[in-house]
Amino acid sequence: MTDPHISGLSGKIVHDEIVPARAPWAHHVKQGETLRIVDLEGNQAVDFLIYSAADDSERYSAQDTVAAQGNLFLREGTVLLSNEGRPLMTITGSAVEYHDTIGGACSCESNTLRYGHHTKSQHACVENFLEANLWEGRGKRDIVSNINFFMNVPVEADGALGIVDGISAPSLTVDLRAEMDVIVVVSNCPQINNPCNAFNPTPVRMIVAA
Ligand SMILES: [Zn+2]
Repeated sequence: MTDPHISGLSGKIVHDEIVPARAPWAHHVKQGETLRIVDLEGNQAVDFLIYSAADDSERYSAQDTVAAQGNLFLREGTVLLSNEGRPLMTITGSAVEYHDTIGGACSCESNTLRYGHHTKSQHACVENFLEANLWEGRGKRDIVSNINFFMNVPVEADGALGIVDGISAPSLTVDLRAEMDVIVVVSNCPQINNPCNAFNPTPVRMIVAA
């Protein structure tokens, strides 16, 4: 039986892993390899950072990426740039119209501000980013503005942001080609106080093709 989640990936599969709901994840992706993220159950925000494997002080820059393309949203064809202005990865395919890079990562601090003090002990993306970064010796100061794949953060006419119901659906995918050797660091978002995960965090699948 063919696996629908790998259709369209041309190279040999070199890694294939399910990231459980609410979990951190990190992986090295070599130049030329493609990482496919599968939103297995739909409307699951995947918070995402990228570092150069050769020198992790070079990392994803939302500011440079947005400025270079003159648009706030990440779509098929978007080149994800580093703080040195160099391409880290390119979005080579996306079954979802656009992805967010301005909404940021959820934290205990933002949760208590937005949703009340009772959310203080809830697990958040910043803890996941910190845990996954610590595996390789990076710390809090290495966590920068991130990408939120499959998260819908529209910008209203007056400039206001919203975190609203997702536009993803079960088994939709996004493909990212590494333009240099990179480290990707992921938080499979544990948020339960807003609709970014449909109030129900779910697993995602990570497939790397050579
Ligand atoms: Zn989150």
